[in-house]
Amino acid sequence: METNITAIPRPYPWQSEQWAKLLRLAQTGKLPHALLLSGESETGKLDFAQAVARYMLCRQTLGVNDNANEACGECRSCLLLNAGSHPDFLLLQPEEPGKQLRIALMRSLNDFSASRSHQGGWRVVVIEPAEALNISAANALLKTLEEPGEQTLLMLVSHRPGGLLPTIRSRCQVMSFPPASAELAMPWLHAAEDSSASDKKATARMALALERAGQRPLRALRYGEQQMADSIDHFESLVEGVASGEVSPLQAAEDCSRLEFNEALTWFARLHVQRLRTQVEDNERLSAGLLAFNDRLTQATQRLLSTSNLNPQLVWEELLMDWTRARLANS
Ligand SMILES: [Zn+2]
Repeated sequence: METNITAIPRPYPWQSEQWAKLLRLAQTGKLPHALLLSGESETGKLDFAQAVARYMLCRQTLGVNDNANEACGECRSCLLLNAGSHPDFLLLQPEEPGKQLRIALMRSLNDFSASRSHQGGWRVVVIEPAEALNISAANALLKTLEEPGEQTLLMLVSHRPGGLLPTIRSRCQVMSFPPASAELAMPWLHAAEDSSASDKKATARMALALERAGQRPLRALRYGEQQMADSIDHFESLVEGVASGEVSPLQAAEDCSRLEFNEALTWFARLHVQRLRTQVEDNERLSAGLLAFNDRLTQATQRLLSTSNLNPQLVWEELLMDWTRARLANS
């Protein structure tokens, strides 16, 4: 029988250190009640958490074969998880991406915590992303963190741990997930899109995608797709066009406002850093205006995170005009 590898989530190649640490903790009985999986989005933290859940719940691992380093994928527990119906596993996510995790969802956590294990083993809860917890949901979670119950593992997946209540952070053991090295990410990207490392065109395209994605492999996989690559190319030419005076900031802002805001800001930041780097390499004096533009990008990101009814077109107009001014002041 052919094994469906997607049905048995494994940690990604760039997560082997974290996986080894997790195994060490689990196999020596030192696993904390709560783990905070922290790092930038699209590096595969949620998949890691699901792999941990499978490992903890599998009937062929802890207590049976303590040396097993991953779930078997075949026992009743593994099959139930694959079917998304394991009674000892709970995944809490917002109803829609970007929305809050509300208190109503946390009630299922309370019910889960109050009941006993159905399989007589571990129980695992994953909350993703943890920063989406609104204040009442966060307080409900605090209660669970204080009294998690026996053999219960809570995993909070967070792309912005700074956005969590300090009281929540302090009750979790932090596991960090830094961006991946090209050495580990590139072979995975080739395998994921079924191309060969000797295919120079594919390698160049994916190396660019990985760089544009800030070394986040899952994002790089998206960025490697033609439509997305075209979209980023277009964005870059717009911004460069504004800088050289060929495109008006207003016109560019209109195009930019159709893009996913948060993501396009990261493209902008990358272009900006490249510009600064070129100046340093050319031994040019870094202008205060260009350096200050970093702060403008940070401010725009913060505004985006704190305001729900932001007018993207307006923010893009302001940003692009500031960028033009910073560049002019530099030349
Ligand atoms: Zn199993």
